[in-house]
Amino acid sequence: MQEFDMYINGKPVQSGKTFDVINPATGEAFARCQLGDVSHVDQAVAAAKAAFPAWSRTTDEERKQLIHALAGAIEANMPELMQIVTMETGKPMGGLNGIGSGMEVGGSIAWTQYTAELQLPVDVIQDNEVARVEVHRKPLGVVASITPWNWPLMIAIWHVMPALRAGNTVVIKPSPYTPVSTMRLVQLASEILPPGVLNVVTGEGEVGSALTAHPDVQKVTFTGSTPTGKRIMASAAGNLTRCTLELGGNDAGIVLPDVDVKEVAPKLFAAAFHNNGQTCAALKRMYVHESQYEEICAAMAELAKNVVVGDGLEEGTELGPIQNQAQLDIVEDLVASARSDGGRFVAGGKRIDRAGYFFEPTVVADLTDGTRLVDEEPFGPIVPIIKYTDIEEVIERANRNDQGLGGSVWSSDPAKAAALAQRLECGSAWVNDHGALQPDAPFGGVKQSGMGVEFGLYGLEEFTSIQTLKITK
Ligand code: NAD
Repeated sequence: MQEFDMYINGKPVQSGKTFDVINPATGEAFARCQLGDVSHVDQAVAAAKAAFPAWSRTTDEERKQLIHALAGAIEANMPELMQIVTMETGKPMGGLNGIGSGMEVGGSIAWTQYTAELQLPVDVIQDNEVARVEVHRKPLGVVASITPWNWPLMIAIWHVMPALRAGNTVVIKPSPYTPVSTMRLVQLASEILPPGVLNVVTGEGEVGSALTAHPDVQKVTFTGSTPTGKRIMASAAGNLTRCTLELGGNDAGIVLPDVDVKEVAPKLFAAAFHNNGQTCAALKRMYVHESQYEEICAAMAELAKNVVVGDGLEEGTELGPIQNQAQLDIVEDLVASARSDGGRFVAGGKRIDRAGYFFEPTVVADLTDGTRLVDEEPFGPIVPIIKYTDIEEVIERANRNDQGLGGSVWSSDPAKAAALAQRLECGSAWVNDHGALQPDAPFGGVKQSGMGVEFGLYGLEEFTSIQTLKITK
């Protein structure tokens, strides 16, 4: 079994304690990682703090070149990284609609390259005979990054690359379910970046919470669940450490009665089921007009029954297992609750009888708002289809949720759909698509889906503070 070390100050670190990482397609361990504790958090933050002055003074061009070199290292190791991502997350190499570990590693390269090219402009507010006033963006210092298990490498890239590009140093703590791709990334980076610029420590919540409460951390960037996001904000409050929080979503998709069902059904299915529904901005509540309700339920059921579920390492697999036992338990609990709430299971509804954490792709009709499967984020291969009659009412129902990550409207009239999409209370609204992210467009949640945005210049600015410089003449 391959073993992976933490990396602090550019060097591999062993704690003497290890933990096994399970492949969810088999239920067996496939890698062993060094387990960190609070003392490693202290070492890593000290190393990042010591590296900050020199790193923050490197020129834009130097940082750009080094970040391109990181993209090159990911690209050179793409097959290995894809295999790691598939074994730790369960997601297929290819996947439904091409959404799998190939996309995760390919997207990591693309995001890194794009972020390398970003420039932070100096804004000139005033320039006359009295004074010149400039607004500069300064790096913050040590950034703590805490990541979840669903897109471990991609999300690590989303945190690390803009933080470094803006001139910060980083300590990252991956999810203990999926630490391997991050540990390998930092190992590769240790051959490129100066010591201490990027460090990785492992561990559970207490290691994460030591990091977010650390007085020498200037910024926390967190992606994960809403309850953990609240705990992180509370612990960061002790030092008034700023936070970007990308939290859970329970995204609504509203299908208008003018869609071509045959054309739209596979897109809706992929939006809900890619990565087994374990994507923050997957379509999780599907609102369908009564005039097309049975037709769309039948089309979704057909797709769910025919999608290829299996080990992600096998060619042709479209959906893998659920990533871990605890998440499988959540899905089973929601299934039981949907049954007692009168849900009609038009596809799936139970575990698949094989090793690993496999669950049938499940489509549930006849539930409505106020039931757990509709109101809560399931984060698994299950979607409720909810009937509506009135468009005004359905917008109001879609917005009647604590979370507000993404939302979509599906129609053959994009302008009409766009007007409705803008009324959804969410950070990203799509027309005839859902969950489509790109490195140049800001992404983030409203309400309890978080605060702040990632990607593009908007995202880069979150890793900076403003310094206003006034030169009186
Ligand atoms: P989680 O909140 O359980 O864990 C995320 C990370 O936080 C892990 O590394 C964990 O070890 C760490 N952690 C746990 N307790 C902590 C504490 N007290 N202090 C600091 N760190 C702590 O989330 P998860 O189950 O790994 O991920 C699934 C969730 O993430 C879903 O709700 C999903 O919607 C959300 N998510 C959101 C986005 C987004 O961009 N908005 C993207 C992906 C996933």
